[in-house]
Amino acid sequence: MSELIPLLAELAGTEGTRRGFVPVPNGWPGVPTEFVPTFVAIHAVGWRAAQAHWEIVVARVLDTDIVKPNVSGELAIRRAVRASALLLNKMARQGRCPICPQAAMANSR
Ligand SMILES: [Zn+2]
Repeated sequence: MSELIPLLAELAGTEGTRRGFVPVPNGWPGVPTEFVPTFVAIHAVGWRAAQAHWEIVVARVLDTDIVKPNVSGELAIRRAVRASALLLNKMARQGRCPICPQAAMANSR
């Protein structure tokens, strides 16, 4: 199933306007246009880590009730992508990623 998860580069394939929610030509409506640049920016090690973490989150969301078991294929992916993008965008704007090791936890000892 994970091969169906779109690449961050695909999600970023917009005209790059600043309106926020611009439909992506490839068909990813509801994904904020600032999501990809913001999410990639918080990954100091770069694009590949961001891509890996994106796939982990989408795969997890696919396993939750957000995506109903009786919805399959493309629709399930679309729902998971949109939900994941909104969640990660909110966290990324605070400089956080749910998959990255938390700096605060590493320093807590
Ligand atoms: Zn991360």
